[in-house]
Amino acid sequence: MNSDAPRVRFAPSPTGIMHIGNSRTALLNYLFARQKNGTLVLRIEDTDPSRNFDPGAKIIMEDLAWLSLSFNEGAGVGGPYAPYFQSERQELYKEKLQELIEKDFVYRCFCTNELLDKKRERQKMLKQPPRYDRACLQLSENETKKLLDSNTPFIWRFKLDQSKTITITDLARGPVTFDLKNFSDFPLTRSDGTFTFMFSNFVDDVTMHITHAFRGEDHQSNSAGQAAMYQALGVELPTFWHMPMLCNIDGKKLSKRDFGFSLHDLRDAGYLPQAINNYLAIIGGSFENEIMNLDELTHAMNFDHMHATGQIKYDVEKLRWVNHEWIKRISPKELEKAVRPFLQAAYPEVGALNDEKLASLLQVLKTDLYTLKDAIESLKFFFEAPEVSKATIDQTLENDHIAPIAALLKSNLDTLENVNPLKKAAKESGIPLKQLFWFMRLALTGQINGPGVQELIDMLGVDESKERLQRVLELLS
Ligand code: GLU
Repeated sequence: MNSDAPRVRFAPSPTGIMHIGNSRTALLNYLFARQKNGTLVLRIEDTDPSRNFDPGAKIIMEDLAWLSLSFNEGAGVGGPYAPYFQSERQELYKEKLQELIEKDFVYRCFCTNELLDKKRERQKMLKQPPRYDRACLQLSENETKKLLDSNTPFIWRFKLDQSKTITITDLARGPVTFDLKNFSDFPLTRSDGTFTFMFSNFVDDVTMHITHAFRGEDHQSNSAGQAAMYQALGVELPTFWHMPMLCNIDGKKLSKRDFGFSLHDLRDAGYLPQAINNYLAIIGGSFENEIMNLDELTHAMNFDHMHATGQIKYDVEKLRWVNHEWIKRISPKELEKAVRPFLQAAYPEVGALNDEKLASLLQVLKTDLYTLKDAIESLKFFFEAPEVSKATIDQTLENDHIAPIAALLKSNLDTLENVNPLKKAAKESGIPLKQLFWFMRLALTGQINGPGVQELIDMLGVDESKERLQRVLELLS
């Protein structure tokens, strides 16, 4: 790895679940790092203990591992810029704050939250943009000293040069210029002395030598203030990429209410991690061959032409199709391992079925499966003999053929391991094969469609198949 190689990071906050949006951010960082022979860092942004939903980010790390997204450096891996949990990096933030204090880029703000709320309300009423009015920037040394002596709580704010503009480079948009007069002097600390997202995220990117900061579009306006801090410290800016947010098929921002928003929901509904990665990488782009694994995606992604704005539609139907393709693509063994837990919940007796047998059953049925869960329905006939009535037989088959088919089957029940002689005999007696197969499939599975009869007999075993056929023949005699 040369020293020009990019360093990118995925920086989730353990305040909620992994959803399809942050899974996509993780994936695109991963693919970019691999394609450019760079380094991918996992940093956990846990600066807000009160909102820590996933202590130690254990669930996030398990989810990333489930997606096979591995990191070169970071939480759970270690590396030269450890620690990788923001909660353990307070000393570093203090040092950087000190640097900014010494360079006079920050000031103390003693305004209480109530006062700030009031100011905001007034600005709203006057139809002014809600921006900090810099009251505390005007405090004299004496006034500040008095407030400090009386232990008045305060925060540090960054002093933006509001006469200036600042330009960042966005991977998809190119140069983006912000007019700093439209921004507030933002807080770097909270009144309890802890550090804000804006500041710790910036300090970490600087100290971890991040060259490319790829994140959701919701962070775009943060980059103006963060860029100002880079300039203050004389550090080269990273290339940003503010990825368009995913929206649902109706064009609304994707939310918890949309099926397929949460990664766990998708996993529980029988989606394969390969399919999720695949779909999240190709969404919004156009690729000749859409079904790709992580290696193939690494080569296929064109990061020079990424979506800048607009809506990226998350279409669960398309994801279902990609999942179907992946179910057909993975090895018999992998499919068996992936499906087994779903079957176990529906049919506890699957525990007695050995891996090879289950794998071979699934090979016959896999073209019908769009999710792993679909195997429950597809294999129902295997675990539960169907209830077939005489009426169903009468309604499904041409009546002239029922008696000859029954007679033929009766005399061939002992030769079921090979259905060829049965087929031959049917032809000789003028029985349409389609009618024969419908009859047999009805008896064996309760459905006229599905795998071939020979495959069904092989799946069920000769004895069970014989029993099921016999049961229907008895109804007719
Ligand atoms: N912790 C932030 C988030 O989860 C990440 C911001 C960033 O990537 O810069 O949205």
